[in-house]
Amino acid sequence: MSPTPPEAGDPLWRGGWYRFAHRVDSPNFGSRPAGAAIDLIVLHSISLPPGVYGGDEVRALFTNTLDWDAHPYFQQIRGMQVSAHFFIRRDGALLQFVSCDQRAWHAGKSSWRGRENCNDDSVGIELEGLEGETFEPAQYEALAVVGAAIAQHYPIRHVAGHEHIAPGRKIDPGAGFDWALLQRELAWPDAMFPPRA
Ligand SMILES: [Zn+2]
Repeated sequence: MSPTPPEAGDPLWRGGWYRFAHRVDSPNFGSRPAGAAIDLIVLHSISLPPGVYGGDEVRALFTNTLDWDAHPYFQQIRGMQVSAHFFIRRDGALLQFVSCDQRAWHAGKSSWRGRENCNDDSVGIELEGLEGETFEPAQYEALAVVGAAIAQHYPIRHVAGHEHIAPGRKIDPGAGFDWALLQRELAWPDAMFPPRA
């Protein structure tokens, strides 16, 4: 008899896919290292072109279907193969591109809680937005709901921004992201969050 899968009896998850997200499969993922403890949520911001909201370009980027010639900015990211587990649009709509049991490609060279290569053992969540701009209440609500669901299913102990795990290289989600609001909504202790200045 095969072992019971970890999500048995958890109606929110199936094979690392969250039930209430709109599933869009990305080819950009790989296996996590054996025994990886998925204890970190990494928050990002993204919009394509930067600062333009509501389009289909992020979904296209994460599924390797973006038309690189459609906008001059896309030349800077031409050929890039990236993904995140989740994407939260400005209206709070939640998309999932990679099973959380798999390794998505969102963090790059990174380090947090004493470990390198955060893609190995984190869940990446992209918020539709731009570094320095604020985010919508509906995005915080969606983030709090999916964050709680992730922490119910995986041993989450830390939440950090891309700017924290790759300082000097990345600045998202940026100063417009309200960490205090997210912490209040999740009701998680200070120790799980980046130190605030
Ligand atoms: Zn990022």
